[in-house]
Amino acid sequence: DGVIRFENVKFAYDPKRPILKGIGFEVPAGKTVAIVGPSGAGKSTISRLLYRFYDVQEGRITVDGQDVRDITQKSLRAAIGMVPQDTVLFNDTIAYNIRYGRTGASEEEVRKAAEMAQIGDFIKTLPEGYDSMVGERGLKLSGGEKQRVAIARTILKAPPILILDEATSALDTATEQEIQAALDFVSEGRTTLVIAHRLSTVINADEIIVLRDGEIQERGTHGELLNQR
Ligand code: ADP
Ligand code: ADP
Repeated sequence: DGVIRFENVKFAYDPKRPILKGIGFEVPAGKTVAIVGPSGAGKSTISRLLYRFYDVQEGRITVDGQDVRDITQKSLRAAIGMVPQDTVLFNDTIAYNIRYGRTGASEEEVRKAAEMAQIGDFIKTLPEGYDSMVGERGLKLSGGEKQRVAIARTILKAPPILILDEATSALDTATEQEIQAALDFVSEGRTTLVIAHRLSTVINADEIIVLRDGEIQERGTHGELLNQR
């Protein structure tokens, strides 16, 4: 379950400037496909189209053979867990923000997800820390901390499909490695689309697609791509 297909997908934010110029690929059920390429190549646009922040202008995107435009936003987003590049959190507690992934989750499950995402200490400071941590501008967390909350939420949600859009980009190297292990754990057996900057962070992907200027330049496993160079 959870097969993703992009078929000749074309998209432009501005009609005069095509961003995706007819791309096609498949993420088989339970596999991981990584999209890598330089900044501005259109990588995040791919994830935004799958999550339907925008719709394709030509071609189509299907999940289990169904055009995403024929799936209600509610059920599409229930099936997909997205860790975006810039996480925006609700102006509420960290626990609330994590539990949002699965509102029926127990205290224990929330704590476990928080620990896996290396944000467990923050949970422990609540509720005492609540007032000082929630300000007018929302939770006072660093970018990396917010990203860890988003990761904990996704760990708890455990959806069939994952989109990891540079999910560890805001983290320092040591934290990144630990979080990567947690992400590898959640993505195991789930259909996963990883957006990454560097080839070195997606060594284990079943397929790597190199995107440049909205076109697929190369594709293959990490080993295959290295041999071509
Ligand atoms: P990547 O993730 O590979 O860095 P993006 O998919 O974020 O690339 O962006 C591809 C191109 O589309 C970039 O040139 C970017 O400036 C442009 N772009 C992204 N979002 C928008 C938007 N909302 N409106 C107009 N242009 C955008
Ligand atoms: P919900 O789980 O309530 O459906 P959304 O799907 O609206 O939440 O948002 C998921 C994440 O994507 C949030 O972190 C949100 O800030 C971010 N987001 C929302 N709209 C956009 C957009 N147009 N482009 C990129 N990211 C977005």
